[in-house]
Amino acid sequence: MKTYREELWFNTPTRRAFINITPQVEACLKKSGIKEGLCLVNAMHITASVYINDDESGLLRDYEDWLEGLAPHEPTSRYRHNLTGEDNGDAHLKRQIMGREVVVAVTGGKLDFGPWEQIFYGEFDGRRRKRVLVKIIGE
Ligand code: ZN
Repeated sequence: MKTYREELWFNTPTRRAFINITPQVEACLKKSGIKEGLCLVNAMHITASVYINDDESGLLRDYEDWLEGLAPHEPTSRYRHNLTGEDNGDAHLKRQIMGREVVVAVTGGKLDFGPWEQIFYGEFDGRRRKRVLVKIIGE
């Protein structure tokens, strides 16, 4: 069995962002040389997510509104977590609901997606360097 590991780095200029990272993951898969197996992609930070859904601009704005409704950034005093001196209590909650990781089947050297599936990095406390892990195993 072959294995491949790569870290993808991000530093978003805004606190929150959604980035389609499918091309970067496909580049990892190509470098791995793996044709049949599994590809794990996970956020390595507890205020960011990796998830799969449609790359559609209306949906991305809907996520932003929906997540702000569930866990508004302000007032930051509403979160006990922020008593630690941080201001990212909302970002931890947003990460929880959008998820930590995805696993995609690798078939014939390609990510075996369903229709419209794309891999996204969801940033909820950006403006600093953060990582995503890509781990691919197979033959
Ligand atoms: Zn925190």
